[in-house]
Amino acid sequence: MDCLFCQIADHKIPANVRFEDDDFIAFDDIKPQAKTHILIIPKKHLHSVAALSDNDGDLVGKVILLARDLAKNLGLDQGGYRLVFNSGTDAGQEVDHIHLHLLGGNKLGHIA
Ligand code: 5GP
Ligand code: ZN
Repeated sequence: MDCLFCQIADHKIPANVRFEDDDFIAFDDIKPQAKTHILIIPKKHLHSVAALSDNDGDLVGKVILLARDLAKNLGLDQGGYRLVFNSGTDAGQEVDHIHLHLLGGNKLGHIA
């Protein structure tokens, strides 16, 4: 499939991988918006939050728990961190494979 994040999940495009198992992969964002900026994705191709089906709840819940564990392992839970799903054009979603942004390591601007 011609999807950037599927290709990263398949190791066809290199990335700085922070975590990987059979179902998920987490890697550094190529254009970090914070000192730590990691993208967490299910390897299964899902378009966006808007495109999720009711059956995807477990998978996406695990993405959030993975973010929690990564944040803890990196010590981000001390100062706090932000999790962001962009969905669709108004939110600025650029890559149409669902991904959770984990941002932290410095004070973040107020966005919501
Ligand atoms: P979105 O705007 O879709 O929520 O976020 C997509 C993110 O993917 C952006 O933060 C962008 O910097 C990141 N990104 C785009 N292309 C690549 C790439 O080739 N490698 C990595 N690691 N990140 C990328
Ligand atoms: Zn994909």
